[in-house]
Amino acid sequence: MINGDGTAVERFADPAEESGDPFIYPDGRVEPGERAYLYHEVSQTYLGDPVNIPVTVINGPSAGPTVFLSAAAHGDELNGIAVVREVAHDWDHSNLNGTLVCLPVLNVPGFLAQQRYLPIYDRDLNRSFPGSHTGSGGRRIAARIFDHFIEPCDLGLDFHTSTRGRTNMLHARADMTDEDVARLARAFSTNVILDSEGPGGTLRREASEAGVPTITVEMGEAHRFQRPLINRALNGVVSVLAEYGLSAESTVHWPGWRTVISEESEKTWLRADVGGIVDMEHERGALVYEGDRVCTISNPFKTSAETVKAPFTGILVGVLENPVVYPGNPLCHLVELDADTLRAVERQQQYDPNRESFL
Ligand SMILES: [Zn+2]
Repeated sequence: MINGDGTAVERFADPAEESGDPFIYPDGRVEPGERAYLYHEVSQTYLGDPVNIPVTVINGPSAGPTVFLSAAAHGDELNGIAVVREVAHDWDHSNLNGTLVCLPVLNVPGFLAQQRYLPIYDRDLNRSFPGSHTGSGGRRIAARIFDHFIEPCDLGLDFHTSTRGRTNMLHARADMTDEDVARLARAFSTNVILDSEGPGGTLRREASEAGVPTITVEMGEAHRFQRPLINRALNGVVSVLAEYGLSAESTVHWPGWRTVISEESEKTWLRADVGGIVDMEHERGALVYEGDRVCTISNPFKTSAETVKAPFTGILVGVLENPVVYPGNPLCHLVELDADTLRAVERQQQYDPNRESFL
């Protein structure tokens, strides 16, 4: 069925007796047992054409929480797009208790240009939330997304990757001082959680403050689909749906080990003190011990090489991919592990030397 506004709606299940409410957005409504594919106008081009974001709303046949999944707030961060599309279009939702609001590409202008920021307004969409309907271009886009598809939800997952030229192991960023956010972060089941409130204007912070507990999921690098990471993130979504009762058949995962890195604990970007070409000796997710060589930085003739060593024992949450630096450039993001977590990581590496289970 195609609605008057061009939205496609299909019924995939009959509403149960205990069915929930319709999901209502400015152009229409999605009833229990229905899935809608829609484009929602968030801005206009110089030609006066609409700038639309794609949205899939799946309202399960039974009542339950409403969860948003969003990606590409930074237009070149693609891994999350694969996660959101797979949840929306490849999963069977005939027993879903609740509603999924799937937003695979938040920053459509940045996505079209394959760049991080909004190209016309040169703004960071992920510093523009909750936005303003009378503010700058970026904040108007943010307000349309926030008011129509974020605030009506009960919780949310916002998928990102590292900035271009670097890569991250899968981890969550969450304000663990907020009980509701902490529950969501633990349910997503990553090994590493970076605990911080988050900068003002980020989707996760502003949504959480507006009563929609939200975490950021970081995974891999920009401009790529990285299947092992996508699969792990999909497992995280399954675990969240189990935790909140949206899926009765699934169970909450335990990642094997977990470390929550507070803002006070030892974690640091190791930075280059010299310019040059980097020979990185470890991949993301690697365990390095205090004093281990992390990388060398050499000149073009290899006549001088600066060795960078790990200042403490920890795990490389992020590493650079583009192997050229000038002084001050970040080389890797090292987070400290306590003794118990270190033992758990060592045990896991013994039976999984390629670290496939926690890259
Ligand atoms: Zn990002």
